[in-house]
Amino acid sequence: MKVKMYNTDARKIEEFIPILPGKVSLYTCGPTVYSNAHIGNLRTYIFEDLLRRALEYADYEVRHVMNITDVGHLTDDADDGEDKMLKSSRESGRSVWDIAKFYTEAFFLDCEKLHINRPHVSCAATEHIDEMIGLVKRLEERGFTYEAGGNIYFSIDKFPGYGKMALLDKADLQSGARIAVDSNKKNPRDFVLWFTKSKFEHQTMMWDSPWGRGYPGWHLECSAMSMKYLGEQFDIHCGGVDAINVHHTNEIAQSEAAIGHKWVNYWMHGEFLLMKGGKMAKSTGNFITLGSLIEEGYDPMDYRYFCLGAHYRSQLIFSRDSLDGAKNARNNLFERIRRLKEESGPIPLKEIGAKGKAYLGDFQDHVANDLNMPMALSDMWTLIKDPEISSPEKLAILYDMDRIFGLEFEEIESVDLDEEILAIVREREAARKGRDFRRADEIRDLLASRGIHLEDTPDGTRWKKLV
Ligand code: AMP
Ligand code: ZN
Repeated sequence: MKVKMYNTDARKIEEFIPILPGKVSLYTCGPTVYSNAHIGNLRTYIFEDLLRRALEYADYEVRHVMNITDVGHLTDDADDGEDKMLKSSRESGRSVWDIAKFYTEAFFLDCEKLHINRPHVSCAATEHIDEMIGLVKRLEERGFTYEAGGNIYFSIDKFPGYGKMALLDKADLQSGARIAVDSNKKNPRDFVLWFTKSKFEHQTMMWDSPWGRGYPGWHLECSAMSMKYLGEQFDIHCGGVDAINVHHTNEIAQSEAAIGHKWVNYWMHGEFLLMKGGKMAKSTGNFITLGSLIEEGYDPMDYRYFCLGAHYRSQLIFSRDSLDGAKNARNNLFERIRRLKEESGPIPLKEIGAKGKAYLGDFQDHVANDLNMPMALSDMWTLIKDPEISSPEKLAILYDMDRIFGLEFEEIESVDLDEEILAIVREREAARKGRDFRRADEIRDLLASRGIHLEDTPDGTRWKKLV
């Protein structure tokens, strides 16, 4: 399977050619652990998980590294505002270290629930201060830094390719002047490598350095840690689209300035999850966590399925209605698989017939073509509905497709029908009590599609299976 992907650096879809045959070095920007991830953040991690699964499916040996930002990420990406960790500490009365530990664990728990595979290396910024200082020293030796007002800055004017991936032109670079508030900067787009004079009275996370006691700028960690774990040139670097203009632009500048050659071959960016009222962001309070969806009765797989329904480079608008749609489709899918499993087990994949192979071929083409998961899902549904393919064959193909989907078809268990139906009927009764008749009707239709008829009586709802 030849993988093609949209490379933000080239602004087109390119065939993936790894540096080392058969191997992929993958770096994905990780969470800032000052609060729970929101489902927008999680959409980006699901996209990266699909990428990794697709590469593994294509028989690459993937080494996946992700950072944990536990220091230096200010509320504004351009060196302004307060350290997010400190802010969270001040607001909660807990230490920054406690907060980092707590939200790192919470993040991995969310990932586990969403079947997002854990990176081979997840590395905390605070555990790599020496590497970051080493990188600043290299930049200093090569003449890319200056000291002003107690901080060490990267001088973008010394780096001619600055902003190339983000397509920043002269006008963009000058427009930075309007947002810059730091008068120490020679160019408004210059960025801090090392803060030696803390802006914040209560900064507790500080380390000794050749430039005085302080802490690293946010962008530094991804350059320093990716180089440590993946080498000075690697294959793929990912993140959300919001990282292109500042964070990744600065990562490229400081990395290539330090090493003197190309750093990353493919840049991939996931588009945003939006709320009806605009961007989903912690800063505006306009966000939803996985935990709150679970409390509302959704299964984490409903959200994973919801994300599979949109291409990672398209914006996706979140609403309960569309999540309900995903939930119904996912329930329906699991029910189909449950029934297939009740009939038989899968045959070995190599024994599937020509038509089955063609379905799998289409699916692989769609996955390999810049992760076209909506099309891959539609291939799966066409297969499921095809009466000419036997159940054991369907199962074999579905299990293979699931290596990418990550919905864990093999774990779907046959359930005691009575108990399952009772739970669904209770959910419908709750919906009716809450006067959510649309949901109640949806549940009735869902059950009808499974041959279950409901009758509402003064003593409650009764059900019977129509044969
Ligand atoms: P953070 O924890 O703020 O550093 O963000 C973690 C990841 O989530 C980054 O790759 C961001 O680009 C991404 N991200 C932030 N907001 C959204 C959103 N609304 N939709 C999708 N991805 C997002
Ligand atoms: Zn990063």
